[in-house]
Amino acid sequence: MLYDLIIVGGGTAGLTAALYARRGGLHTLLLEGSAPGGQIIASPELENFPGLPKCSGVAFTQRLLEQTAALGLDLKYEAAVALHFTPSLQEAETSGGGSYQARALIWAAGLVPRHLGCPGEEQFMGHGVSFCAACDGMLYKGKEVAVVGGGNTALEEALFLSKICLRVHLIHRREKFRAEEALRQKVAQTPKIVLHCPALVCEMDGGKRLESVVLQTERGSQTLPVAAVFLAIGKLPANQLVADSLALDEAGYVLAGEDCLTALPGVFVAGDCRTKPLRQLVTAAADGAVAASQAIAYLH
Ligand code: NAP
Repeated sequence: MLYDLIIVGGGTAGLTAALYARRGGLHTLLLEGSAPGGQIIASPELENFPGLPKCSGVAFTQRLLEQTAALGLDLKYEAAVALHFTPSLQEAETSGGGSYQARALIWAAGLVPRHLGCPGEEQFMGHGVSFCAACDGMLYKGKEVAVVGGGNTALEEALFLSKICLRVHLIHRREKFRAEEALRQKVAQTPKIVLHCPALVCEMDGGKRLESVVLQTERGSQTLPVAAVFLAIGKLPANQLVADSLALDEAGYVLAGEDCLTALPGVFVAGDCRTKPLRQLVTAAADGAVAASQAIAYLH
Protein backbone atom coordinates (compact mmCIF):
# COMPACT_ATOMS: atom_id res chain seq x y z
CA MET A 1 0.00 0.00 0.00
CA LEU A 2 1.29 3.48 -0.81
CA TYR A 3 1.24 5.92 2.10
CA ASP A 4 1.96 9.62 2.04
CA LEU A 5 4.32 9.27 5.00
CA ILE A 6 6.09 6.50 6.91
CA ILE A 7 7.40 7.35 10.38
CA VAL A 8 9.99 4.97 11.81
CA GLY A 9 10.00 5.04 15.61
CA GLY A 10 7.13 5.50 18.06
CA GLY A 11 8.80 7.58 20.76
CA THR A 12 7.73 11.12 21.58
CA ALA A 13 9.23 12.50 18.34
CA GLY A 14 7.59 9.84 16.15
CA LEU A 15 4.20 10.06 17.85
CA THR A 16 4.18 13.86 17.71
CA ALA A 17 5.13 13.68 14.03
CA ALA A 18 2.19 11.33 13.53
CA LEU A 19 -0.14 13.73 15.35
CA TYR A 20 0.87 16.65 13.13
CA ALA A 21 0.91 14.54 9.96
CA ARG A 22 -2.62 13.26 10.56
CA ARG A 23 -3.84 16.75 11.40
CA GLY A 24 -2.23 17.81 8.11
CA GLY A 25 -4.23 15.14 6.28
CA LEU A 26 -1.37 12.76 5.45
CA HIS A 27 -2.10 9.06 5.08
CA THR A 28 0.47 7.97 7.65
CA LEU A 29 2.04 4.70 8.78
CA LEU A 30 4.01 4.54 12.01
CA LEU A 31 6.38 1.60 12.50
CA GLU A 32 7.36 0.73 16.09
CA GLY A 33 9.43 -2.36 16.85
CA SER A 34 8.57 -2.64 20.55
CA ALA A 35 6.38 -0.64 22.93
CA PRO A 36 5.41 2.91 21.90
CA GLY A 37 6.77 5.75 23.98
CA GLY A 38 10.50 5.23 23.62
CA GLN A 39 12.80 6.39 26.39
CA ILE A 40 10.17 8.36 28.28
CA ILE A 41 8.33 5.23 29.45
CA ALA A 42 11.28 4.64 31.79
CA SER A 43 10.64 7.96 33.57
CA PRO A 44 8.64 7.45 36.76
CA GLU A 45 7.80 11.15 36.98
CA LEU A 46 7.91 13.97 34.44
CA GLU A 47 8.42 17.36 35.98
CA ASN A 48 9.66 19.60 33.20
CA PHE A 49 7.25 19.36 30.28
CA PRO A 50 5.74 22.85 29.99
CA GLY A 51 2.20 23.10 31.27
CA LEU A 52 1.90 19.43 32.15
CA PRO A 53 1.18 18.49 35.76
CA LYS A 54 3.47 15.79 37.20
CA CYS A 55 2.77 12.44 35.56
CA SER A 56 4.62 9.24 34.71
CA GLY A 57 6.26 8.62 31.34
CA VAL A 58 3.82 5.76 30.77
CA ALA A 59 0.79 8.01 31.44
CA PHE A 60 2.21 10.69 29.12
CA THR A 61 2.74 8.13 26.32
CA GLN A 62 -0.73 6.69 26.81
CA ARG A 63 -2.32 10.12 26.36
CA LEU A 64 -0.19 10.97 23.33
CA LEU A 65 -0.96 7.60 21.78
CA GLU A 66 -4.71 8.01 22.34
CA GLN A 67 -4.62 11.55 20.98
CA THR A 68 -2.83 10.36 17.83
CA ALA A 69 -4.77 7.12 17.34
CA ALA A 70 -8.04 9.09 17.48
CA LEU A 71 -6.92 10.86 14.29
CA GLY A 72 -6.74 7.59 12.37
CA LEU A 73 -3.05 6.72 12.45
CA ASP A 74 -2.02 3.37 10.97
CA LEU A 75 0.29 1.94 13.68
CA LYS A 76 2.12 -1.32 13.08
CA TYR A 77 4.23 -3.06 15.73
CA GLU A 78 6.92 -4.04 13.28
CA ALA A 79 10.56 -2.95 13.32
CA ALA A 80 12.06 -1.53 10.15
CA VAL A 81 14.87 -3.86 9.08
CA ALA A 82 15.82 -2.24 5.76
CA LEU A 83 15.15 1.14 4.14
CA HIS A 84 15.38 2.11 0.48
CA PHE A 85 15.38 5.79 -0.39
CA THR A 86 14.82 7.21 -3.88
CA PRO A 87 13.99 10.79 -4.90
CA SER A 88 10.33 9.86 -5.48
CA LEU A 89 9.62 6.86 -3.21
CA GLN A 90 10.73 5.65 0.24
CA GLU A 91 10.38 1.98 1.19
CA ALA A 92 10.58 0.21 4.56
CA GLU A 93 10.97 -3.54 4.92
CA THR A 94 9.92 -4.76 8.35
CA SER A 95 10.50 -7.55 10.84
CA GLY A 96 6.96 -8.75 10.11
CA GLY A 97 7.97 -9.50 6.51
CA GLY A 98 6.05 -6.47 5.24
CA SER A 99 7.20 -3.91 2.74
CA TYR A 100 5.65 -0.43 2.86
CA GLN A 101 6.07 2.52 0.53
CA ALA A 102 5.51 6.23 0.95
CA ARG A 103 6.48 9.42 -0.75
CA ALA A 104 8.09 10.75 2.44
CA LEU A 105 9.70 9.22 5.51
CA ILE A 106 10.57 10.54 8.97
CA TRP A 107 13.40 8.75 10.74
CA ALA A 108 12.74 8.99 14.50
CA ALA A 109 14.54 5.91 15.83
CA GLY A 110 15.80 7.53 19.03
CA LEU A 111 18.52 6.09 21.22
CA VAL A 112 19.44 2.72 22.68
CA PRO A 113 20.99 2.28 26.14
CA ARG A 114 24.78 1.98 26.39
CA HIS A 115 26.07 -1.30 27.88
CA LEU A 116 28.95 -1.58 30.35
CA GLY A 117 30.65 -4.44 28.53
CA CYS A 118 31.77 -6.28 31.68
CA PRO A 119 31.63 -10.08 32.16
CA GLY A 120 28.17 -11.29 33.22
CA GLU A 121 26.27 -8.26 31.88
CA GLU A 122 24.72 -9.99 28.85
CA GLN A 123 24.15 -13.25 30.79
CA PHE A 124 22.00 -11.52 33.41
CA MET A 125 20.19 -9.18 31.02
CA GLY A 126 16.53 -9.45 32.04
CA HIS A 127 17.57 -11.58 35.03
CA GLY A 128 18.78 -8.81 37.27
CA VAL A 129 20.28 -6.40 34.75
CA SER A 130 17.81 -3.71 33.71
CA PHE A 131 17.71 -0.32 32.01
CA CYS A 132 14.40 0.79 33.51
CA ALA A 133 13.57 1.22 37.19
CA ALA A 134 9.99 2.27 36.45
CA CYS A 135 9.46 -0.96 34.47
CA ASP A 136 11.33 -3.47 36.67
CA GLY A 137 11.81 -1.79 40.07
CA MET A 138 8.83 -3.49 41.75
CA LEU A 139 10.41 -6.90 41.06
CA TYR A 140 13.05 -5.97 43.62
CA LYS A 141 10.83 -4.58 46.36
CA GLY A 142 12.56 -4.81 49.76
CA LYS A 143 15.85 -5.94 48.19
CA GLU A 144 19.29 -4.40 47.78
CA VAL A 145 19.92 -3.07 44.28
CA ALA A 146 22.52 -1.00 42.44
CA VAL A 147 22.32 1.84 39.93
CA VAL A 148 25.29 2.65 37.68
CA GLY A 149 25.85 6.16 36.30
CA GLY A 150 26.20 9.76 37.35
CA GLY A 151 23.76 11.62 35.08
CA ASN A 152 20.17 12.74 35.58
CA THR A 153 18.82 9.32 34.65
CA ALA A 154 20.96 7.46 37.20
CA LEU A 155 20.01 9.78 40.05
CA GLU A 156 16.32 9.70 39.11
CA GLU A 157 16.44 5.90 38.98
CA ALA A 158 18.17 5.75 42.38
CA LEU A 159 15.59 8.07 43.96
CA PHE A 160 12.71 6.07 42.49
CA LEU A 161 14.18 2.76 43.69
CA SER A 162 14.88 4.16 47.17
CA LYS A 163 11.10 4.28 47.71
CA ILE A 164 10.76 0.55 46.98
CA CYS A 165 14.02 -1.17 47.80
CA LEU A 166 15.85 -1.87 51.04
CA ARG A 167 19.00 -0.07 49.91
CA VAL A 168 20.24 1.45 46.65
CA HIS A 169 23.96 1.47 45.83
CA LEU A 170 24.71 4.32 43.43
CA ILE A 171 27.91 3.49 41.58
CA HIS A 172 29.65 6.16 39.52
CA ARG A 173 33.06 6.21 37.87
CA ARG A 174 33.91 9.73 39.05
CA GLU A 175 33.50 11.60 42.32
CA LYS A 176 31.50 14.35 40.67
CA PHE A 177 28.00 13.72 39.33
CA ARG A 178 26.98 15.39 36.09
CA ALA A 179 23.31 15.29 37.18
CA GLU A 180 21.64 18.61 37.95
CA GLU A 181 22.00 20.17 41.40
CA ALA A 182 18.37 19.58 42.46
CA LEU A 183 18.76 15.82 41.94
CA ARG A 184 22.17 15.72 43.67
CA GLN A 185 20.61 17.39 46.69
CA LYS A 186 17.70 14.95 46.80
CA VAL A 187 20.12 12.01 46.62
CA ALA A 188 22.28 13.47 49.41
CA GLN A 189 19.15 13.73 51.57
CA THR A 190 18.13 10.10 50.98
CA PRO A 191 19.79 7.82 53.56
CA LYS A 192 18.79 4.66 51.68
CA ILE A 193 21.11 5.64 48.80
CA VAL A 194 24.72 4.59 49.40
CA LEU A 195 27.30 6.26 47.17
CA HIS A 196 30.23 4.37 45.64
CA CYS A 197 32.37 6.83 43.72
CA PRO A 198 34.76 6.62 42.12
CA ALA A 199 34.01 2.96 41.41
CA LEU A 200 33.62 0.73 38.35
CA VAL A 201 31.51 -2.39 37.98
CA CYS A 202 33.98 -4.90 36.55
CA GLU A 203 31.98 -8.14 36.87
CA MET A 204 28.44 -9.45 37.49
CA ASP A 205 27.91 -12.84 39.15
CA GLY A 206 25.10 -15.17 40.17
CA GLY A 207 23.28 -18.38 39.33
CA LYS A 208 20.09 -18.19 37.28
CA ARG A 209 19.73 -14.56 38.37
CA LEU A 210 22.16 -11.83 39.30
CA GLU A 211 23.38 -12.10 42.90
CA SER A 212 26.32 -9.70 43.14
CA VAL A 213 28.54 -7.22 41.35
CA VAL A 214 32.27 -6.75 41.75
CA LEU A 215 33.42 -3.14 42.14
CA GLN A 216 36.87 -1.78 41.37
CA THR A 217 37.56 1.10 43.76
CA GLU A 218 40.60 3.08 44.87
CA ARG A 219 40.88 0.68 47.81
CA GLY A 220 40.82 -2.45 45.63
CA SER A 221 37.97 -4.71 44.61
CA GLN A 222 34.75 -5.20 46.57
CA THR A 223 31.86 -7.62 46.10
CA LEU A 224 28.44 -6.06 46.53
CA PRO A 225 25.51 -8.47 46.99
CA VAL A 226 22.60 -7.04 44.96
CA ALA A 227 19.50 -8.57 43.39
CA ALA A 228 19.53 -6.14 40.47
CA VAL A 229 21.67 -3.58 38.75
CA PHE A 230 20.07 -0.74 36.81
CA LEU A 231 22.34 0.65 34.10
CA ALA A 232 21.98 4.38 33.42
CA ILE A 233 25.26 5.16 31.67
CA GLY A 234 23.91 7.07 28.73
CA LYS A 235 22.50 6.16 25.38
CA LEU A 236 23.68 5.72 21.81
CA PRO A 237 21.87 6.77 18.61
CA ALA A 238 19.99 3.88 16.96
CA ASN A 239 21.10 4.90 13.48
CA GLN A 240 22.65 1.70 12.07
CA LEU A 241 19.89 1.32 9.49
CA VAL A 242 20.56 4.74 7.94
CA ALA A 243 24.34 4.81 8.40
CA ASP A 244 24.95 4.23 4.69
CA SER A 245 22.33 6.65 3.41
CA LEU A 246 22.32 9.65 5.80
CA ALA A 247 25.31 11.69 6.96
CA LEU A 248 26.20 10.98 10.60
CA ASP A 249 28.50 12.89 12.94
CA GLU A 250 31.41 11.22 14.77
CA ALA A 251 29.14 10.05 17.60
CA GLY A 252 26.67 8.49 15.15
CA TYR A 253 23.89 11.11 15.20
CA VAL A 254 22.18 12.08 11.92
CA LEU A 255 23.53 15.46 10.85
CA ALA A 256 20.54 17.82 10.64
CA GLY A 257 19.52 21.23 11.89
CA GLU A 258 16.38 22.47 13.62
CA ASP A 259 14.56 22.17 10.26
CA CYS A 260 14.90 18.34 10.52
CA LEU A 261 15.92 18.15 6.84
CA THR A 262 18.38 15.55 5.55
CA ALA A 263 20.25 15.72 2.26
CA LEU A 264 17.74 13.27 0.75
CA PRO A 265 14.52 14.68 -0.74
CA GLY A 266 11.48 13.39 1.16
CA VAL A 267 13.52 12.03 4.08
CA PHE A 268 13.39 13.86 7.42
CA VAL A 269 14.86 13.16 10.86
CA ALA A 270 13.33 13.91 14.25
CA GLY A 271 14.19 13.49 17.91
CA ASP A 272 17.20 12.32 19.87
CA CYS A 273 18.80 10.45 16.95
CA ARG A 274 19.74 13.74 15.23
CA THR A 275 22.48 16.22 16.13
CA LYS A 276 21.11 18.74 18.64
CA PRO A 277 22.24 20.64 21.71
CA LEU A 278 19.47 19.47 24.06
CA ARG A 279 17.83 16.03 24.19
CA GLN A 280 14.65 16.38 26.24
CA LEU A 281 11.00 15.42 25.92
CA VAL A 282 10.12 18.95 24.84
CA THR A 283 12.74 19.00 22.06
CA ALA A 284 11.70 15.54 20.85
CA ALA A 285 8.09 16.71 20.61
CA ALA A 286 9.21 19.91 18.85
CA ASP A 287 11.18 17.87 16.30
CA GLY A 288 8.18 15.68 15.58
CA ALA A 289 6.08 18.75 14.82
CA VAL A 290 8.78 20.34 12.64
CA ALA A 291 9.55 17.15 10.69
CA ALA A 292 5.85 16.49 9.98
CA SER A 293 5.35 20.10 8.86
CA GLN A 294 8.35 19.73 6.52
CA ALA A 295 6.90 16.49 5.14
CA ILE A 296 3.52 18.16 4.55
CA ALA A 297 5.19 21.07 2.73
CA TYR A 298 7.31 18.66 0.67
CA LEU A 299 4.31 16.55 -0.37
CA HIS A 300 2.25 19.60 -1.30
P1 NAP B 1 24.32 11.11 30.60
O1 NAP B 1 23.96 12.46 31.09
O2 NAP B 1 25.11 10.97 29.35
O3 NAP B 1 25.09 10.39 31.80
C1 NAP B 1 25.67 9.13 31.62
C2 NAP B 1 26.44 8.79 32.87
O4 NAP B 1 26.99 7.49 32.70
C3 NAP B 1 27.58 9.75 33.15
O5 NAP B 1 27.64 10.02 34.52
C4 NAP B 1 28.81 8.98 32.68
O6 NAP B 1 29.94 9.24 33.46
C5 NAP B 1 28.39 7.55 32.93
N1 NAP B 1 29.02 6.62 32.00
C6 NAP B 1 29.08 6.68 30.64
N2 NAP B 1 29.73 5.62 30.13
C7 NAP B 1 30.09 4.88 31.21
C8 NAP B 1 30.80 3.66 31.34
N3 NAP B 1 31.26 2.99 30.26
N4 NAP B 1 31.02 3.17 32.57
C9 NAP B 1 30.55 3.83 33.66
N5 NAP B 1 29.87 5.00 33.60
C10 NAP B 1 29.65 5.51 32.38
O7 NAP B 1 23.03 10.17 30.37
P2 NAP B 1 21.57 10.27 31.04
O8 NAP B 1 21.67 10.45 32.49
O9 NAP B 1 20.82 9.12 30.51
O10 NAP B 1 20.96 11.60 30.41
C11 NAP B 1 20.87 11.74 28.99
C12 NAP B 1 20.28 13.10 28.66
O11 NAP B 1 18.92 13.13 29.09
C13 NAP B 1 20.98 14.24 29.40
O12 NAP B 1 21.01 15.36 28.57
C14 NAP B 1 20.09 14.48 30.59
O13 NAP B 1 20.18 15.79 31.09
C15 NAP B 1 18.72 14.18 30.01
N6 NAP B 1 17.80 13.76 31.07
C16 NAP B 1 17.09 14.73 31.67
C17 NAP B 1 16.22 14.41 32.71
C18 NAP B 1 15.43 15.50 33.34
O14 NAP B 1 15.49 16.64 32.88
N7 NAP B 1 14.70 15.23 34.40
C19 NAP B 1 16.11 13.10 33.15
C20 NAP B 1 16.89 12.12 32.53
C21 NAP B 1 17.74 12.47 31.49
P3 NAP B 1 30.74 10.64 33.35
O15 NAP B 1 29.89 11.64 34.05
O16 NAP B 1 32.02 10.34 34.02
O17 NAP B 1 30.89 10.90 31.89
